[in-house]
Amino acid sequence: MKIDLTWFMRVAGIIGALFIGGLTVASSQVVSSNDASPTLYAYCQQFQILYIRIREQTITPDSARLQFSHIMHGLQDRFHSQESYRQDSLQQDSLRRTGLYFSFPIRGYTTSAIGGTHGEGYRGRGFDLFDYNVRGSHPAQDIFIADRNQNIIDDATGKPADILSMSNGLVLAIETDWKPGSEYRGGNWIWVYDPILNGLFYYAHNNEVTVRPGQWVASGQKLAEMGRTGFNAYKTRSPTHLHLMYLQIQPNGLPAPLNTYQWLLAAKLTKK
Ligand SMILES: [Zn+2]
Repeated sequence: MKIDLTWFMRVAGIIGALFIGGLTVASSQVVSSNDASPTLYAYCQQFQILYIRIREQTITPDSARLQFSHIMHGLQDRFHSQESYRQDSLQQDSLRRTGLYFSFPIRGYTTSAIGGTHGEGYRGRGFDLFDYNVRGSHPAQDIFIADRNQNIIDDATGKPADILSMSNGLVLAIETDWKPGSEYRGGNWIWVYDPILNGLFYYAHNNEVTVRPGQWVASGQKLAEMGRTGFNAYKTRSPTHLHLMYLQIQPNGLPAPLNTYQWLLAAKLTKK
């Protein structure tokens, strides 16, 4: 099926403009969490707080699930209340199948940088976003750069490697303060909500994060510079890489991991 790109670009443009306008207002106001209709920025704050509570295990998995689905339904309602935003499931499905929608998430790199030979690094079974103690799954693709001495400088360019947003979306939450010795596995991470797909992209192990919560990012826009942050990623046995996860939000507001391998194969490449 062919996707109507003109339609898509128009929608993306309108949404982008709406949110740039909306967010300027949001970020200059003191946001009240009791407001009947929270701003987008308030959802970002709620998500950031919730995700950190999950990581620090100061919330039970069941309470976390409840809060998460509440935030996701709220975000979805905010975006879908825009007339230009409504679309049927057929259009959504087409978007997900077309590579033109996605940008490869590392500048100057191609599909050969994806771990494994056929994307078999993805293991979705047993994943639970809400229970930090659950291990063993890897619902993600790892994408590697050439960095033999592990100084987070790309051997080919002599510069840090840019992490690019795979699609248009709203930066929900970031971590920028990971320190060596910390047991936290994701290091400096970024969560981006894509309202067209109604899903979340998670980019982990970054060095410098160059976006902020509440910011609208375009497909291919720089999010960060690749790093080695995170408990395992920091160790010498781990080659320098991006950990890329996508969670599809289900009708009940809860996330299900989805393998991005086919999207990566078809994604637009960005030159160095
Ligand atoms: Zn990984």
